[in-house]
Amino acid sequence: MTYRNLLLAALISSAGIFGYSQPEGNPGLALQGPDHYSFEVGDVKVTALSDGSVPQDLHILLRGTTEAKTDALLQRSFLTNPVEASINAFLFRTEDRLVLVDTGAGEFFGPGFGDKLLSSLAAVGVAPDQITDVLLTHAHDDHMGGLVHGGKLTFPNATVHLSKADLDFFMDRENAKRTGYAMSYFDQASTALEPCIKAGKVKAFTSDGEVAPGVFAAQHPGHTPGTTFYTLRSRGEEIVFIGDIIHVAAVQAPDPEITIAYDVNPAAAAAVRREALSTFAEERTLVAVPHLSFPGVGHFRRMGSGFEWVPIAYGNREPGSDGRFADPHKNGDKH
Ligand SMILES: [Zn+2]
Repeated sequence: MTYRNLLLAALISSAGIFGYSQPEGNPGLALQGPDHYSFEVGDVKVTALSDGSVPQDLHILLRGTTEAKTDALLQRSFLTNPVEASINAFLFRTEDRLVLVDTGAGEFFGPGFGDKLLSSLAAVGVAPDQITDVLLTHAHDDHMGGLVHGGKLTFPNATVHLSKADLDFFMDRENAKRTGYAMSYFDQASTALEPCIKAGKVKAFTSDGEVAPGVFAAQHPGHTPGTTFYTLRSRGEEIVFIGDIIHVAAVQAPDPEITIAYDVNPAAAAAVRREALSTFAEERTLVAVPHLSFPGVGHFRRMGSGFEWVPIAYGNREPGSDGRFADPHKNGDKH
């Protein structure tokens, strides 16, 4: 082997370190770094934070469809089963509060799946003890899991807001027997929420209303008994953090009647989806969605008898350069 070939071999073997190697047999899946994406809603900078992604076998998980129908809808969006579901959380500052909407899966999914939220948070210069409020859209593992690590509070200074309906339902194991909903959900709720309850950090709400300055909670039972939308308003603009009223845009937007195994009340979940997506389409509402492809922010528009997901446009330039287009001739160059 010549010196040059040795050098090449060394470069190729270290390609993984530099991040250009693909996991074998999965060419569409590359490992990313800490992911964050910021945009403005009125005066408020909102940042989507990735907790990672997990594969989902839709043939097993979806209800009210057939494998053939699911596959046809996926193919329309250039996807094949299983699909990768993002786990997104969202951060913003309102007055003196630093608010996190959902906390990702924490340690629940095991090594390699989720639990990237803290590194995404670190990448935007935020330490966990700076978070003052956590807003849970609902009490499922992939939204509250990040509240604890090794049984200790991840965000020691944060008040955890969630609906009393979800808190009561998931903290009572009798509900597993009553409803047939898997016991694992109730075990996970104790793991994540009990340390927060013991520390006096949980603030459960029974009625809709303001939970932080300019942030309004509204319950939409279906996916869980107290699934909550949080609307952030600033200077006439708004964004709604909608939780898990939709998991797979390619399938459930065109046909909102298709439900998922995680729905506590599938009929109510489907009704909420159809009604909410209809309102969002009509009012052109910006929404933030935990499981649509990162950053999971965009709009729904009507398409036939259903809807279509339109992700927000990408932006990346210095603040304060609003309203000016780059002029290639500004130095008087003639081309
Ligand atoms: Zn979820």
